[in-house]
Amino acid sequence: MLDFTTHPLSAPMSAEDRTAAMATLGFGTLFTDHMVTIRYTEGQGWHDAVLGPRQPIPLDPAAAVLHYAQEIFEGLKAYRLPDGSVASFRPEANATRFNESATRLAMPHLPEDLFVESIRKLVAADVDWVPDADKGSLYLRPFMFATEAFLGVRPAKEYIFCVIASPVGGYFKSGKSAVTLWVSHDYVRAVPGGTGAAKCGGNYAASLQPQSVGIEHGCDQVLFLDAVERKWVEELGGMNVMFVFGDGTIITPPLNGSILPGVTRDSLRTVAGEAGYTVKEQPYSFDQWMEDAKSGKLREAFACGTAAVITPIGEVRSARGDFVIGNGDGGEVARTLREALVGIQLGRKPDTHGWMTRLA
Ligand SMILES: *Cc1c(COP(=O)(O)O)cnc(C)c1O
Repeated sequence: MLDFTTHPLSAPMSAEDRTAAMATLGFGTLFTDHMVTIRYTEGQGWHDAVLGPRQPIPLDPAAAVLHYAQEIFEGLKAYRLPDGSVASFRPEANATRFNESATRLAMPHLPEDLFVESIRKLVAADVDWVPDADKGSLYLRPFMFATEAFLGVRPAKEYIFCVIASPVGGYFKSGKSAVTLWVSHDYVRAVPGGTGAAKCGGNYAASLQPQSVGIEHGCDQVLFLDAVERKWVEELGGMNVMFVFGDGTIITPPLNGSILPGVTRDSLRTVAGEAGYTVKEQPYSFDQWMEDAKSGKLREAFACGTAAVITPIGEVRSARGDFVIGNGDGGEVARTLREALVGIQLGRKPDTHGWMTRLA
């Protein structure tokens, strides 16, 4: 594997300032002292792996990422375990998905062990930034973008892979536990054959305007339907969805090429199965959803992803009607599954699947 050059920050934040900065944690606004960067040049491969101070990255104004959006990212967390050590949840799955995203965006693959080693190096350098388990976790953001100065349209020949870290508390601003969703009938997030299954910044850019429409309607997040029939539930802008029925069945839409394959989604399928639920990957239509919510057949619905783990969906609004799910404030299944998954992530429950990777 590549050797890293280490340039620690000469004057890192004092323990006192850091504690003050971490007293109230939001999401993605506070950053640690360091970052990892690795460069890629066609013909040479990956080179110049550096753990150094977190700082701006100079870019040529013609850098391909600024024009044609060749950019992918990942999101995972490092948790403080009861013995004081720090571990992350299934980082290998993120490394694999990163390369799947890279394939779709015509970018070079990063060896999976180098992906995990980059995270390890950053967490070791900034270990004091990992919050106590009851306060939050350290969100890790690996990403890669095209740096080659070239305006022709083809895959770039130069890239930077970078990892930054941010201590985080909860994800959603509103204090209540259940969120209200806006279902977009006008806009879609991803199309068959498009980039929906890749974790690329461009997908998020396309979701921002529908998100503003949702906010105008008093909603927290947007849920997107499929692009062809505008009928089938796909996912949120950054989270997958699951539906819980009175008979103990949980449905989640199948990975159809335009849904992002979430690590949380995948892990919850296992955890829910072990908790006695029957998890089915099955298409679920908006009309059926509305009908099942109104009849009471649908007991709960929740969104899932690394940032917020499980977020209950209390209410749904759309141009085609509004409805409430259950009592409108989440339910027992979401709570149970959240506790089971978070229990493993925080080292409070046995890690029977070997999901935890010690980092520091
Ligand atoms: C990252 C992401 C998810 C959730 O994936 P996790 O691996 O569970 O964090 C879901 N949908 C989209 C669009 C995403 O970008």
